[in-house]
Amino acid sequence: MEEIMVLKFGGSSVADNEKLQLAAKRITKIYDKGKKVVVVLSAQGNTTDRLIKEANELSGNVSSRELDALLSCGEQMSTAKLSILLNYLGYPAISLTGWQAGIFTNNNNQNANIIKIDTSRIVKELNDKKIVIITGFQGIDENLDITTLGRGGSDTTAVAIAAALHAKNCYIFSDVDGVYTADPKKIENTKKIPKLSYEEMQELSSEGAKVLHNRCVEIGEKFKIPIITKSTFNEEKGTMISDTIEENKVKSIVKKEISRISIIGNGIIRNFDLIELIIGFIKKNNLELLNFEIFESKISILFKNIIEDNKIQELHKLIF
Ligand code: ADP
Ligand code: ASP
Ligand code: MG
Repeated sequence: MEEIMVLKFGGSSVADNEKLQLAAKRITKIYDKGKKVVVVLSAQGNTTDRLIKEANELSGNVSSRELDALLSCGEQMSTAKLSILLNYLGYPAISLTGWQAGIFTNNNNQNANIIKIDTSRIVKELNDKKIVIITGFQGIDENLDITTLGRGGSDTTAVAIAAALHAKNCYIFSDVDGVYTADPKKIENTKKIPKLSYEEMQELSSEGAKVLHNRCVEIGEKFKIPIITKSTFNEEKGTMISDTIEENKVKSIVKKEISRISIIGNGIIRNFDLIELIIGFIKKNNLELLNFEIFESKISILFKNIIEDNKIQELHKLIF
């Protein structure tokens, strides 16, 4: 049987017609190799932000059911557009919404959890040689009402579908070519991390690195699906998130809200040189702390004051 490839493209990767062409090129290259291809898409660019803003302009009390009915439209637009493009390029493609793809969730609007996926429609379309393009971020609840999975939730759709289809990996394409030692858009001289454990990535995501939705990492770990993050715009090798455990290697710094930072790495609790270095940095900068916690794979520090990016830059330079 042909291998099933699950590829997810984020909002910035499908932002306009030109970018859709780039995504289409990646997809057709894989399809041409004889693979079965399932694509999961986000809404284009800042569509979801815009829809939330517009709903709030209409009402000070937006119904959570109707908000999900509205937000799910963003992904329906991007998937239909990609399917139109692929058909135009001569490829058999079909777009499926969450309910058409059999994605069932609980009824926790705006933060729903996937309960099960009935893959029969997806499998039928794949067997008919279609490229199956599925809306990320949405499903239906027991009342057949539309739900959404929380901001950034298309990653979770992709990994859940990869698990349900028993795919070997799940590829997440975005505007960065992997997971870095800090947010490469904010901090200079960051380095790409070739491999991360599920646990490290989960800590990173829940501490605020938006490169992957944290629930997608949970699902990846539960069903043993390696997650590979790559760029839509270059051919660089990405980052693989899997079971690999490397002790004592500091992986990344992440900032959550305005005054909490975390440093992530398996076995960080035993990395005494690093702990000393961080304490030295805090003393040198006269930073006041509200909390300092050390866990197996994470050190989290809550400062009394706002931590500006230049401070993170300084700490990043010391550590990496
Ligand atoms: P998409 O729209 O494709 O889902 P996101 O915007 O959700 O992409 O996630 C990618 C962004 O995550 C990057 O543009 C980057 O600014 C941010 N990011 C934050 N921390 C990191 C990190 N440690 N490594 C890589 N990217 C990071
Ligand atoms: N479109 C949704 C959001 O902007 C889901 C996603 O992009 O993953 O949060
Ligand atoms: Mg995202």
